[in-house]
Amino acid sequence: MVETIRYDLVICGSGLAGLRAAISAAQKSPRISIAVVSKVQVMRSHSVSAEGGTAAAIAQDEGDSVESHVYDTVKGSDFLADQDVAERLCSEMPAQIGQLDKWGMPWSRRKDGRIDQRAFGGYSYPRATYASDKVGFYEMQTLYDTCQGFDGIEYLNEWFATSIIHDGQRFHGLTAIEIATGTFHVLRAKALIIATGGAGRLYSFSTYAHSSTPDGLDMAYRAGMALKDMEFVQFHPTGIMPSGILITEGARGEGGHLLNSRGERFMKRYAPSKMELAPRDIVSRSMITEINEGRGFKHETGVDCMRLDLRHVGDDMIREKLGGIREISIKFSGADPAEDVLDVRPVCHYMMGGIHTDIDGATELAGVWAAGEAACNSTHGSNRLGANSTSECMVWGRITGELAAEYIERGGGDGGAPFPHHLVAHEEKRIYDGIFRGGGGANPYEVRQELTDTMNEKAYVYRDGPGLAEGLRRVRQLKKRAWKHVDDRAKEYNTNFCNVMEIDSMLRAAEVILVGAINRKESRGSHARTDHPKRDDAGFLHHTLAYYDPAEPILKEHPVTITRYQPVERRY
Ligand SMILES: Cc1cc2nc3c(=O)[nH]c(=O)nc-3n(C[C@H](O)[C@H](O)[C@H](O)COP(=O)(O)OP(=O)(O)OC[C@H]3O[C@@H](n4cnc5c(N)ncnc54)[C@H](O)[C@@H]3O)c2cc1C
Repeated sequence: MVETIRYDLVICGSGLAGLRAAISAAQKSPRISIAVVSKVQVMRSHSVSAEGGTAAAIAQDEGDSVESHVYDTVKGSDFLADQDVAERLCSEMPAQIGQLDKWGMPWSRRKDGRIDQRAFGGYSYPRATYASDKVGFYEMQTLYDTCQGFDGIEYLNEWFATSIIHDGQRFHGLTAIEIATGTFHVLRAKALIIATGGAGRLYSFSTYAHSSTPDGLDMAYRAGMALKDMEFVQFHPTGIMPSGILITEGARGEGGHLLNSRGERFMKRYAPSKMELAPRDIVSRSMITEINEGRGFKHETGVDCMRLDLRHVGDDMIREKLGGIREISIKFSGADPAEDVLDVRPVCHYMMGGIHTDIDGATELAGVWAAGEAACNSTHGSNRLGANSTSECMVWGRITGELAAEYIERGGGDGGAPFPHHLVAHEEKRIYDGIFRGGGGANPYEVRQELTDTMNEKAYVYRDGPGLAEGLRRVRQLKKRAWKHVDDRAKEYNTNFCNVMEIDSMLRAAEVILVGAINRKESRGSHARTDHPKRDDAGFLHHTLAYYDPAEPILKEHPVTITRYQPVERRY
């Protein structure tokens, strides 16, 4: 039995991008009805765990500039960012910080009352505005609070979206299961904003929430939209051992050092001017090189790691500015950063790739936009700078919300085309017959473990052709195994069913990452191929687009927009 509900605008995802979009759409057009759909409660979206800061050139009277923010972003991206997009990010950000401030964001402040900023990797100015080390939590609270002022916004919390319904020309609706009751719904609407976040749970060593799976990416992919630049996965240098929970780059921004087993600050060999505050791709590679050359440590679990030393920062400063990571270190690793060094290792932290959009966040399907980490508007190219992602959520949340509202006001929508009911029936069959009653023999959680371990092993900081090919072979084998095995037959709160749907999307997204990585025979940003160690601008200064095909992803090339900065070698 399918229940139908109608809205004007559906926003899938209630993280920073989704909430920012909801506010902007409601402001633009108070008349429209907006549904914010989320498979978790609003404040459990991964955005609440953002720690270190949000980048913006707000101190232009003290020496910073938008231009410098743009250049740092483009250089950090290893010249794969679309430069017009980076320009938009950086020029809009100062106003977004002011807007959050007006909405009540409790920024950390200097003694003179101005919003404080801390150093972050890859920037030539201390540009990360912050709120202790819990910036995402406070930003989410500020946005959610602001959302309460708009009657037109409704929350469908703990609803699991499954597919985009469209007629090949335009968007018609989103199918979703209300997890509490198990009821299958179609949310018919005129426009959709996909804000489903990153997919870092594709890796077993990951900083992400367990809900960060590629459902939204896969929905767009299956609906015929391209996924772009998925081979670029960011590994953050400091995932604490053994859990992988993030120790923010802010810890190095406040003066923390990375040490090898000889007690050296080894970054002097790799980035002598920026040291520990080089971009993440460079720091992560340096750590793995130190480990490979025998200057690492063995964690008690047997895994290689390096050490982060914050002891000289001092207990008072740690409590004031890094209270969250102090708690994490003590609770999850038994180490007090004021007294002990922390065992850390590069950890999956961000997806530069995502749903292909233009500079406005518009996808290839009329009526559908994407914003936040799920989108790839090409701000970050092949390596994102820390603190630029929460910024991206603010800027493209605002833009897509406004554009979707305008589209609805202009009469956008199905254009009188009949609703494709047969596609809803097809979706019901796909998920209930294909997945719920799939009847496979393999344990899906074992499949997920094997998949995420494979990604960790074969598509980590360093990759090579044979390793990636072996990874792809294993993923395809897992895909073939009849694993669609849902043990729980319940209708209500069937999280087992949701998990199996997540794994289904993970297998397709993993394939896209691996195929893209095999195809990109160069090293650029986060994609470091030991068998092709050089950047190759003649052959690969382009984005990768991957389109769905049941046999295998179809790859295409997409040009990079260069406005002012010709690619040069990155040195820090
Ligand atoms: C530990 C950590 C720390 C970070 N620190 C920083 C930082 O200091 N500065 C910075 O700039 N960036 C940071 N980042 C990155 C940044 O936080 C994220 O990129 C950003 O918050 C993503 O926001 P989002 O709105 O795109 O998605 P998310 O906040 O991930 O939200 C995704 C939403 O989509 C919903 N969703 C997903 N699938 C479905 C489905 N099938 N059905 C219904 N709903 C669905 C989820 O329920 C959720 O509401 C950090 C990331 C992590 C993991």
